[in-house]
Amino acid sequence: MVGDVKVVEMDRNDSDSEVARETTIENENVLSDIAKNDKDFRVRLDALEMISNMDILADIAMNATDSKIVSKAIEKISDESVLIGIVKNSNGPFRNEAAQKINDQSVLIEIAKNDEDFVVRAASAQKISDESVLTDIAKNDENSYVRRAAAQKISDESVLTDIAMNDDDAYVRRAAAQKISDESVLDDIAINEERLTKVICDKCGSENMTVKSHKAPNPDYSYCAWKIIDYICNDCGNIVSKPL
Ligand SMILES: [Zn+2]
Repeated sequence: MVGDVKVVEMDRNDSDSEVARETTIENENVLSDIAKNDKDFRVRLDALEMISNMDILADIAMNATDSKIVSKAIEKISDESVLIGIVKNSNGPFRNEAAQKINDQSVLIEIAKNDEDFVVRAASAQKISDESVLTDIAKNDENSYVRRAAAQKISDESVLTDIAMNDDDAYVRRAAAQKISDESVLDDIAINEERLTKVICDKCGSENMTVKSHKAPNPDYSYCAWKIIDYICNDCGNIVSKPL
């Protein structure tokens, strides 16, 4: 198959540029067929590498069944309107990858607020720079994954504190808390976490715990362990430590 394509490609030398252009598209349609359907992944990939027409790449992104070919096709698309078309007009599982390549803020906001796929909403939120929009998404999206993606982009500590104190989801609260530097606010958050998370003594089963928080000795220990909450059992003195 690839041998046939090479023959077609030689026609590019035609002196009439219009014919050459049409020949190129015809050639790329053949390549597209190979990229989508050849049994050999290497051959599919080689064919894809030779395609530069944005519409043909978009067709591959929306219709190929091999996820690696789809990702590679999206990677090759540089035309923003084509990327927007893929996100808005297809229902493929890789629309988030196309969304991540979009820079137009108004389009990103529209997608982040309205797309029915939470993965696509989160991918778009990660590219939004307007803090008030991010705040709206972080506080109101029904999906915690999207709220977290938005919270991670916010820098206003008062907004972050609100989220770290009040979101229903512990991962969203943590994502917001990680961006807060004010130690006294972090203490309040730690106490609030204790209130939200019922901790029981693992030695005597008592729920009668006193909470104290301190800085994690090694902040790189895990992604969330920048603060340690110690729950001290009032009945037996046992200490249960949890990373915030
Ligand atoms: Zn105890």
